[in-house]
Amino acid sequence: VSAEDLRQAIRDVPDFPKEGILFKDITTLLQDPTLYREAIDVFLERYRDQKIDKIAAIDARGFLFGSALAYELNAGLVPIRKKGKLPYKTIDVSYELEYGTAEVAVHIDAIKAGERVLLIDDLLATGGTAQASVELIRKLEGDLVEAAFLIELGFLNGRAKLGDVPVFSQMTF
Ligand code: AMP
Repeated sequence: VSAEDLRQAIRDVPDFPKEGILFKDITTLLQDPTLYREAIDVFLERYRDQKIDKIAAIDARGFLFGSALAYELNAGLVPIRKKGKLPYKTIDVSYELEYGTAEVAVHIDAIKAGERVLLIDDLLATGGTAQASVELIRKLEGDLVEAAFLIELGFLNGRAKLGDVPVFSQMTF
């Protein structure tokens, strides 16, 4: 299985969820056991020796990679969720959307100071969600190792928004 095979497995869906958006559909990759395993293995190889304590996975497609990775790396899993979903005390960070704002949240005790954290999501677009998630991790004094994505939309330059945070993506469109 090659990186090109993974890339070919992403389905483009025009005008979803609204007109003008070209949605990168990963379900066509996920439903293939060989490709799904390979996508996880690429992350695994990169982070196996990085002494990751916590995987911070972004709601909801980040969970699809984060949980498998946490299991195999013997790391804890920290869900970063849309505000209002987590039951215990949270810290929240809001960020700008095309129209209005959104908020992400994490439990106040999800990460201990100095823990080595890997942030993961399926796709980096404008970087707003990832940037807000980085802020959450920093507020909890986590040591952010890298932000990892299956897909990066290069033309949106979400990387720039993440400043000095190292960014890894398996493929760029
Ligand atoms: P952003 O905050 O702009 O970087 O958006 C990132 C989040 O929105 C990720 O959780 C993605 O799953 C989702 N997303 C944004 N744009 C797309 C797209 N073109 N195709 C699929 N998912 C997207």
